[in-house]
Parts: sequence; structure tokens; C-alpha cells
Amino acid sequence: MNIIVAGGDGFCGWPTALYLSKQGHDVSIIDNLVRRKYDDELRSNSITPIASLEERVQKWKELTGNEIRTYEGDLNHYDFLKEVLKREKPEAFVHFAEQRSAPYSMIDREHAIYTQVNNVVGTLNVLYGIKEVVPDCHLIKLGTMGEYGTPNIPIEEGYLEVEHKGRKDVLPYPKQPGSFYHLSKVHDSHNIMFTCKIWGIRATDLNQGIVYGLDTDETQMDPVLANRLDYDGVFGTALNRFIIQSTIGHDLTVYGEGGQTRGFLNIRDTVRCIEIAAENPADKGEFRVFNQFTEEFTVLDLANKVQKVAKEEGYTIDVAHLENPRVELENHFYEAVNTKLRDLGLEPHLLTDEVIREILKTVVNHKDRVIKENVLPNVTWK
Ligand code: NAD
Repeated sequence: MNIIVAGGDGFCGWPTALYLSKQGHDVSIIDNLVRRKYDDELRSNSITPIASLEERVQKWKELTGNEIRTYEGDLNHYDFLKEVLKREKPEAFVHFAEQRSAPYSMIDREHAIYTQVNNVVGTLNVLYGIKEVVPDCHLIKLGTMGEYGTPNIPIEEGYLEVEHKGRKDVLPYPKQPGSFYHLSKVHDSHNIMFTCKIWGIRATDLNQGIVYGLDTDETQMDPVLANRLDYDGVFGTALNRFIIQSTIGHDLTVYGEGGQTRGFLNIRDTVRCIEIAAENPADKGEFRVFNQFTEEFTVLDLANKVQKVAKEEGYTIDVAHLENPRVELENHFYEAVNTKLRDLGLEPHLLTDEVIREILKTVVNHKDRVIKENVLPNVTWK
């Protein structure tokens, strides 16, 4: 299958491109490399040293003989995107290429606007590109579980059966996102759903949970193929951030009470979920929604798990409850359905102490690269 991975230089996109290439798909990457520029802006870095995109794909070719073509450019530049679509004629377009940090989107007006324009306009261009150049192409779009927020009823996979004043309908599940970033994803979902209806686009919206880990079998083949791993207060996500904090003797930074419950998944499952979606395309005109996570944890659960494993490895650290920089419920009901990907064959890699230990050991090798001032949160929602 010819597959474009947009955002293929990023944390989820790079291992996905390698995995799909390994499975025999003909893969190309679109990326404007802006994630590397946010590092410069925030004076931050990936704890793992990462090679340039050019070096990465060269090494992949050397090791496997497989070519991954790269197109450096911005989804917001329609002429560029259209040219790539004409050249590649993809059967699936995997869309990771967005600004994905909630705190980054909450820095100030400029960052909120940048995030929403980058994400919403980029996706709108992809939808027009598919319509005009490759109308049969299956859009596989990364959304987030954060689109739903934390309602006091179970979260369904995209749609909710509602009975109102004696009538019944199946309606899009209500969205109550918690940042300008998460709102951009909701706006995307609406635009995609609308174009499925009016133009017959086939699309799968993957409402992904928080991804942890960094390695897949492919990224482990050579240091040049290493994946990025973020730990800072802006791009570092829970679990990965806690593991890194533990290795530098930093308290684990739980925001508020830590009762915030979220869906999580291993990066190894992210790449498999994309493969499953690609191999089982949505029908023409179908807007299909999968909840892409494997387990639910509270933030405090995760901190406690990391604290335990870190102690066994000789790192004794405390769990610190910081004043919550976000506006969110810290104790709430959370129950989300995630059966559709499993029904299609996903076999989850669950979060065990061994998994935490393996990430921790990789991190220890690079802990000298941590810029300590970046670990604490410095963006507030208020
Ligand atoms: P990332 O920032 O590491 O990767 C995104 C990539 O897209 C980067 O390489 C960036 O340079 C590129 N990009 C951004 N805007 C672009 C544009 N306009 N044109 C071309 N390239 C562009 O992020 P990630 O963690 O790999 O996340 C990938 C996707 O998965 C995002 O859409 C994110 O919202 C979603 N997601 C991630 C997580 C997570 O825990 N990492 C959780 C849920 C959903």
C-alpha cells in the first residue's frame, strides 16, 4: 500500500513510518520539521539524541534496503501538499502533523492562534487535497481522547445513542476539551465529519490516549534510528516525564491531587493501531472513530508505579503535589470504551514494571542531556 505519514519526523510518526515500511508498505514522509524548531524556541531538547531526518532515512535504507521518501514542507502550503499527493497517489494518508502540546497552545494569544491555524488549516488542506487528487485515499487522522474531556457518563467511541423527548438518534459524542490544542482537534473532527458527508471522503479519527515509551523493534536497530523523548513541562507527557525526573533525582511533578484519570498506550501499540486502521479502511463517506488507548490510570497511579521501579533501580525520589497549572477536575468519574481496535486485532502491550524499567534504563544513558530548568511546568491556564 502507498502510505504517506505526515508528521513522520515526530515522536509517533517516525516509529510508525519505520514500522509500516518494515511491513512492506511503500512509505513517504511529509514534515516541516517544526517540532525541532519548538525545541530551539523553548531552549529544550529530546533526552535521546536524534539524527536529522535525512540521516534517519539513509540509515533505514542501508539496514533494510527499503526507501522512505521525504518531503520537507508544510501542510499549510496547499500547492506543496497537492504536488506530493499527485506524485505519491497515496492509498492512505496518516496525519500526525500537528502542534500537539496543550501547554504550548496555552502560552499566550500567539501560541493559541498558531496552534489552531496550523492544525485546523493543515487538516482542511489535507481534506481538499484528498478530494481533488486522490478521492479514494483513506485519511487516518490522529485525534485525542482529550477531545471528550471528563464527562460524568461513560465515553463511547465517537457516537452516543440519545433518546430525547420520545425520539432517538445516534449523535456525535459531546466534546468538552480542556485546552486550545484539544479544541483544535475537535474542530478537525467536525471538519472531517462534514467532508465525509458532503464529498464522500473515507476517514478514521483515532482518539489517541497519552503515549508512553520510545522504542519499537525498528528504532532499536541503530542509534541513528532512535526516537525522540520529551521530558520538559511543555512537551513532556505524564509517565515519560516521571521516568526521566526519577533518574535525575527530581521529585515527580503531580499536578494537584493527581486523581486525573486518562487513557494511555505504549508507542508499540500506536504503530500497530495505524497499521490496523490502514488495512481495514473506512467506507466511502464513513467518518469512523476509534478510541486508541489500552489502559486507564490516574496521574498519581503512574507516579507511584515509577517511584517503586526507580527505587528498585537505586533512585529514591518523592512524589510532589504541585499547584495545578491547568484548569481541570482532579477527581472525577472516567470510563471509556476502547473495543474497536481490539476487535480488529490489537494485542495491547500493557504497562508492567518491566516496561517502566526498560524505558528508565534507556533514559539513564542520556540523563546528562536533561536541562533541569525545563522540568517544572511554567505555563498556566489562568
Ligand atoms: P510531535 O510534535 O513529536 O510530531 C508531530 C510532527 O508533525 C513533528 O515532526 C512536526 O514537525 C510535524 N508538523 C507539525 N505541524 C506541521 C505542519 N503544519 N506541516 C508539516 N509537518 C508538521 O507529536 P507526536 O507526539 O508525535 O504526536 C503526533 C500526533 O498524535 C499529533 O497529532 C498529536 O496530537 C497526536 N497525539 C499524540 C499523543 C502523545 O502522547 N504524543 C497523544 C494523543 C494524540
